[in-house]
Amino acid sequence: MISYFCNIPRLSLCYPLSCNDLTMILKSAEKLKDIRQLDQGKLIEELKAMAEPAFRGKQIYEWLWKKSARNFDEMTNLSFSLREKLKEKFEIRYLKQGQQQKSDDRTIKNTFILADGNLIEGVLIPTSERMTACVSSQVGCSLSCKFCATGYMERMRNLNADEIVDQVVLIDKQARDNYNIPLSNIVFMGMGEPLLNYANVMKAIHYITSEEGLHFAAKRITVSTSCVWVMKKYVLILHFRCMQLTIPSVMRSCR
Ligand code: SF4
Repeated sequence: MISYFCNIPRLSLCYPLSCNDLTMILKSAEKLKDIRQLDQGKLIEELKAMAEPAFRGKQIYEWLWKKSARNFDEMTNLSFSLREKLKEKFEIRYLKQGQQQKSDDRTIKNTFILADGNLIEGVLIPTSERMTACVSSQVGCSLSCKFCATGYMERMRNLNADEIVDQVVLIDKQARDNYNIPLSNIVFMGMGEPLLNYANVMKAIHYITSEEGLHFAAKRITVSTSCVWVMKKYVLILHFRCMQLTIPSVMRSCR
């Protein structure tokens, strides 16, 4: 995609990992399932298999996607025994905050640490009218736009939907903590070409916009593309009926 956001000088992607980071990465290598890879239907099936009623699945789904719970102990409307059972089978692989760099113009650049140790970037961009999160959709990028530092990196992998949603949650918290204002806008202009990770970007937008998720206004989300996949962009616009994802904005984003 073309955006000045992509030209923001990169933070070091050699962020030194702490003992806690390494513990989290090693823990993720264990055989626990990442509970956020289950959709609501599968979650309810898992709960039924654990002899729990279906409504427990809905409660857990709400903790995961609406309340952004980071561990099962936060799920205080579940019994202690159910929380312990969940811990034996599942984990929540959440994104961790890495290095932060605040600029004179109040922009805050972040390195985020994924559960597998890969690093991505997300940026909080405050202006007088908006509080915008610029999020990544891939680790690295397979395109090679000459003006963009990410273009010189190898594409390692696509981000999962939860890894995209977590960037929004962390940057929103950063906006509230630093400026006492919640996010007003989200732009997919960080690392990666979003439409080359179409399924996960669509899923993330669902979690960000749905009432059972963050309930963020779809019209305040912009997905920018290098125009490799213009047709998918049209599909996305129609799917979400999101007037901010207009054709002119697509054309402005095109090389
Ligand atoms: S598509 Fe990839 S290489 Fe091109 S500007 Fe976006 S992140 Fe950079």
